[in-house]
Amino acid sequence: MMRLTGIGASEGVSIGRVYVFHEEEIVLPEEKLLTEETYESEIIKLEEAMKKSKTQLISIREKVRIKMGDDKADIFDGHILLLEDEDLVDEIKNKIMEDGLKAAHALKEGIDEYSLMLSQLDDPYLRERAADFQDIGKRWLKNLLNIKISDLSNLEPDTIIITNDLTPSDTAQLDLKNCRGFVTEVGGKTAHSAIMARSLEIPAVVGTKSIISEVKDGQRIVIDGEKGEIYIEPTDAIIKEYENIREEQQKAKLELKKIKDLKPITKDGHEVEIWGNIGKPEDIDAVMEAGATGVGLYRTEFLFMNSDHMPTEEEQYRAYREVVEKMKNCPITIRTMDIGGDKELPYLDLPKEMNPFLGYRAIRISLVHKDMFKTQLKAILRASAYGTVKIMYPMITSINEVRAANVILEECKKELDEIGKKFDRNIKVGIMIETPSSAIIAYKFAKEVDFFSIGTNDLTQYFLAVDRGNEMVSDLYSAFNPAVLEAIQKVIDAAHDRGIPISMCGEFAGNKQATELLLGMGLDAFSMSASSVLQVKKKILESNYAEAQKYRDLILSKNTPEEVVDALR
Ligand code: PEP
Ligand code: MG
Repeated sequence: MMRLTGIGASEGVSIGRVYVFHEEEIVLPEEKLLTEETYESEIIKLEEAMKKSKTQLISIREKVRIKMGDDKADIFDGHILLLEDEDLVDEIKNKIMEDGLKAAHALKEGIDEYSLMLSQLDDPYLRERAADFQDIGKRWLKNLLNIKISDLSNLEPDTIIITNDLTPSDTAQLDLKNCRGFVTEVGGKTAHSAIMARSLEIPAVVGTKSIISEVKDGQRIVIDGEKGEIYIEPTDAIIKEYENIREEQQKAKLELKKIKDLKPITKDGHEVEIWGNIGKPEDIDAVMEAGATGVGLYRTEFLFMNSDHMPTEEEQYRAYREVVEKMKNCPITIRTMDIGGDKELPYLDLPKEMNPFLGYRAIRISLVHKDMFKTQLKAILRASAYGTVKIMYPMITSINEVRAANVILEECKKELDEIGKKFDRNIKVGIMIETPSSAIIAYKFAKEVDFFSIGTNDLTQYFLAVDRGNEMVSDLYSAFNPAVLEAIQKVIDAAHDRGIPISMCGEFAGNKQATELLLGMGLDAFSMSASSVLQVKKKILESNYAEAQKYRDLILSKNTPEEVVDALR
């Protein structure tokens, strides 16, 4: 048995089998010209690898059909057509028979030339296929060279994924029926892989530094997503112990369900709101199931990231409206696209940056790509005709940005009016407070907007100058740092002085260790992953507001994160 530790990123324990998700590098065999007698066998290898790739694509297509519907599944028909393109196949065969190249070299050249050709076409749709084709070509080449193809959409039962990092697009294709958890070498508690794990309610441990080289596919593994513990080939005693823990946790979860319909009111009658954070319309089910009464953060960038093209106004409108209609009569806060940082968007062709978290991201992109921003704002406005929608701008650092965004919003309203589309004329517009500049002058921002939502994930990283996704500095990353806590208190006070509502949608809002403190600080609404909703509600029900206020003064007098955490205990 081997025991490893990392950062507990999503609660719960899991017992399963290892699946190493690791892009193996493609190494081509030595380049040697073929003799005529071997042409035939190279062509057979090429064709067999193509057949194998086709079978794999068909199987993925059918799984996607069940999970995500016909629309998404049909995309794979296009991929199969690309794979079987006769011109391409002839070209590759020529490279074998006329140039004497080995199948792998001929295929690699053929793929590169074909993608280049696609990427230079005028038709934007075909141009976008160049990236698809690179993927298909890679699959074909790996099959030819007998290299393992990692695929997260098609897992064995009870799989625990071990990987260096899990990007949001990896998580989007996760086979949720069979995935029992994941472990990543990099990342911290508020990296997007960790946030996704919590919203999917999958136990996860992140930031183990090295683990891939220590494990093999199929090994037995136990993970504890709260403590950050991992056991490879655990003893029978460990398995027994964790089976018991799992049973206890399931019982506790059932017990918590009983408070689902209670309002979050303290013992002395102070009421707050508990809302859910979502990344896609499907996430709303878990939010409602947990009894949350609104959405405090809809991360719309996932809609953009899970698509192979810029979502149209109609596509966005449908997604937003679905959420609004499902949660009828509940406020839905739709945040405009927050791309950049650790969230990439391949078809937007953003340059690689030295400091992506300090670079071209979120509102900064929206204000430059005005058409894209208008498309999104119009889609949100149109959805607002069906319920209570609020618009929220991310990564605001200056009042200029709010004003510029609002000018564009007014343009959108006018254009919708001109074509007779309905929207909520009193739609509320707010901002994320997630940068030091917006926190420090929150009292000035409060005069410009209808509400604030504190994004502690970024606020903590920017206040402390500690990368939220870097396991090397994760010990320094803590919203319990007195500097962050003071900033939060200032922002809450600034909102109250001006009489605008204040919520928090960073992960800190769902941290039950912080609930009483935030309550005492005067937070009006807590917005979090569905998995935390009931635990936080339980804390509120057990708290007393007057005591929480006194206790807040004690906590804010502390000097270090350790002193704060000790006092909270
Ligand atoms: C935050 O920064 O706290 C936040 C909620 O936004 P995101 O995690 O998407 O950056
Ligand atoms: Mg943020």
